[in-house]
Amino acid sequence: MNVADSQRVASALERLGYHATRRADDADIIVLNTCVVRQSAEDKAYSRLHSLRPLKEKRPGLVINLMGCMVGVRGSEKLQKRFPFVDVFSPPSDPGPLVAFLTQDESRSLERAETEERFAVMDGDLLLPVEERGRLISAHVPVVLGCSHACTFCIIPYRRGVERSRPVGDIMAEVRSLVAQGVKEITFLGQIVDRYGKDVADGPNLTALLRIAHDIEGLERIRFLTSHPSYMTDELLDSIAALPKVMPHIEVPVQAGDDEVLENMKRGYTSEDYRCLVEKIRQRYNGSFPGVSIATDIFVGFPGETAGQFQKTYDLLAELKLDVAHLARYSTRPGTVADRRMKDDVPDEEKWRRFRELEALQESIAAEINAMYLGKTAPVLFEQKVKGRWKGRTETNKLVFVESDQDLSGQVLPVSMTWTGPWSMQGTLPFVQGYGIPLQLVPNQL
Ligand code: SAM
Repeated sequence: MNVADSQRVASALERLGYHATRRADDADIIVLNTCVVRQSAEDKAYSRLHSLRPLKEKRPGLVINLMGCMVGVRGSEKLQKRFPFVDVFSPPSDPGPLVAFLTQDESRSLERAETEERFAVMDGDLLLPVEERGRLISAHVPVVLGCSHACTFCIIPYRRGVERSRPVGDIMAEVRSLVAQGVKEITFLGQIVDRYGKDVADGPNLTALLRIAHDIEGLERIRFLTSHPSYMTDELLDSIAALPKVMPHIEVPVQAGDDEVLENMKRGYTSEDYRCLVEKIRQRYNGSFPGVSIATDIFVGFPGETAGQFQKTYDLLAELKLDVAHLARYSTRPGTVADRRMKDDVPDEEKWRRFRELEALQESIAAEINAMYLGKTAPVLFEQKVKGRWKGRTETNKLVFVESDQDLSGQVLPVSMTWTGPWSMQGTLPFVQGYGIPLQLVPNQL
């Protein structure tokens, strides 16, 4: 979500005539886009913010913009007092305050922008930052902003505000514009993306959104995240399995494997509900290789989590064998129900121990699942060259590296896998006999 938000800020600034620079020392404006979902993210944001103070002292004309969840949607008075060297405070997803600050000063007025870019501002189009235009292959498009679910541990609803679905017309205009700028893959974003449209009377739901996007010419792949186990309907599961451009990869966090812990988290489902959901998802891809990949989020050390309750999380992960598990250790977040009413009573070293146990388990599961790709061929959408190798992703979102002197950017090509590990794979491009050029296939023709 923050990557998508940052792209919007960069795009808004370019329309005003600014361009990106690599070094903070060369910048006229520095935007620090922050995440505070866990203490570690917040610590990182504070340390970056402190590191900007000397730059501002050296160059008072430098504009510093603090953005994102550290600011939140409820005003920034306290932060203004604490960080007087920050010029502008912006809530998540909103370049507005920075643009207003810059344009109120005549010397930095919109007049500096080219006509075409000025019109883009007025029309609200999303122009990718110049650096990414024609180069970005996979882009994120927020479709649901905020969250109203109020899990007891989560700060997001307090910082990103209540759930708001963006109008379908705006979303599709953005997708079309991104595709026209070279993007091949779109990921629809929401804290609970399957709730898209639920806050709008008679509005389209996520299934409808996927169907409309599916018809956009030039768009090759569609993904969406993050799902919530309680909102993945049969209609949604049927349609994603039936729509070839919608990739067989689901991100659906379980958070814990013990029902009492889930209840205390106010997640709204049991471990058995989650088991059934995984089964239902897999059924829809039965018999096909590579089937569907499923990613989850889990964090350990929620208030009151006993060793026995943690064991249930471990056992669930061992049983379900999911492709990816994003793991974390609980940290209390100010203002949340857990922060106000529950004691953060699992010692830090115990949180680390549980975390490492899950990490080791997941590494072996991911290695085992990925080994099934060895010697097989799968279509890969290539994005860019990283350290001399082309980087791409399978339909199931597995990271693949390939060596090639050709420009593979934006191409979907069949790759035969020659090495697999828990976090990535390597492969080669089969060649069409007699031509010496890679065979190009469109998704799902393999
Ligand atoms: N909205 C999605 C959901 O809750 O299902 C996931 C998005 S959340 C931004 C990313 C992940 O951060 C969560 O799934 C959870 O595992 C983790 N997380 C959230 N609050 C946390 C906390 N207080 N301590 C540790 N991890 C936390």
